[in-house]
Formats: sequence, structure tokens, C-alpha cells
Amino acid sequence: MRILVIEDEAKVASFIRRALEEESYAVDACADGGKGLELASAGCYDLVILDLMLPGLPGIEVLKTLRKDQVSVPVLILTAHSQVNQKVKGLDAGADDYLTKPFAIEELLARVRVLLRRGSGEAAGVLQIEDLVLNPASREVTRGGRRIELTAKEYALLEYLMRNTGRVLTRPMIAEHVWNQDFDTFTNVIDVYVNYLRNKIDRGQDRKLIHTIRGSGYALKAE
Ligand code: CA
Repeated sequence: MRILVIEDEAKVASFIRRALEEESYAVDACADGGKGLELASAGCYDLVILDLMLPGLPGIEVLKTLRKDQVSVPVLILTAHSQVNQKVKGLDAGADDYLTKPFAIEELLARVRVLLRRGSGEAAGVLQIEDLVLNPASREVTRGGRRIELTAKEYALLEYLMRNTGRVLTRPMIAEHVWNQDFDTFTNVIDVYVNYLRNKIDRGQDRKLIHTIRGSGYALKAE
């Protein structure tokens, strides 16, 4: 899943970025409101973390513009402790949640999981298709009750596939959301990783879940 962090305090931004990357999210960070709006408007993010006090364009204006332009990406705003008003304004302007600085990183990660869950319509806190279950909080994956060990990238790829069950995901989409790379500079790595994942998820199973959509990409679905 791909997350944009718009935050001008370098220390806070890198702290958030590191924590998210450790959870296998693909992260872009930017320190300016105008640039942040441009990136968020491009529509390739699953979540935006937005500080309100920003150079260039204030966070609240970034948010208002996104909503005015019908960009519905979930937005988590960051506010300073003293800005209760700002928090209310932020929610009124279309933020999905807020966090007051300073915050514990565990709380940020928990809220990120909740917002990504809302975006994907996932109900009980786990993602499931047939007997394949992924728990984003514990990062445990099982098929038929049997635990499957995945590397960080395999996990990120599977989470992206499971949050988009039934949809055809093109290689450029996968490159952006899982590797945070342009597909142009990125060749057969995706196919290699899909094969790794297939070996762990589908090998020996009667019902295959990972499907190659010829000429397009991949889809996770029950046939
Ligand atoms: Ca700031």
C-alpha cells in the first residue's frame, strides 16, 4: 500500500517514514503543501498523512482542494496540541481522522491500518478470500489454517492484492503501490515476486487464487 506523508518537520517526517517502511508500506514524503497537493492529486496513493502547518500551501487548503476535486483518498491529519480548532476544521474539511502531536508511533500505525481497512471495505480487521487470511495488525498470513512465512516484499504484494480482490492490477500499478517505483525503470521483478508468492500461497492447492490476466497483469480472486 502506498502512503504519502506531507510534513515539513524533517525529523517527524523521517520518523514516520521509517516506521511505515518497516511495515512494508511504500512511502513518499514531501515538505511543501503545494507539492503535496500535486502528488496527492495524481491519485496513486492509498492514504495521505497531512500536517496542517506547512510552507507553500497550508494543510487545510491541501485537504479542501483534494475534496473539491473529488479525490477521495483517506486523509489522516496531524495537528499540534494547541490547535483544537484546526482539528475540527480539518475534520469538517474532509479529513478521515486526526492525530495530535506528539504521538506514539504505534498509535499512528494503528490508525493507518484502520483507514486502509475502511478504504478496502474490510470488516473484521482481517482480509480473507476463501481460506487465505491476512491479519494486517499481526502481519500473519494463513491458508487453510496453516501459517505461511512471507518476506517483507511478498507480504506487501499480497496485502495489495488482497485489498483489491477481484480487480486486475497492472504491473505499473503493482510497481507503484508495492515498490514505489516507476514501472519504466522496473522490469521483471514483479513477475519474479508473484511467482514466489504463488509458490507459497497456491502450490499444492486445488483452488488457485493468484491469476495471471494475459496482457494486463494479475488478479487475486476465487475462480
Ligand atoms: Ca509543520
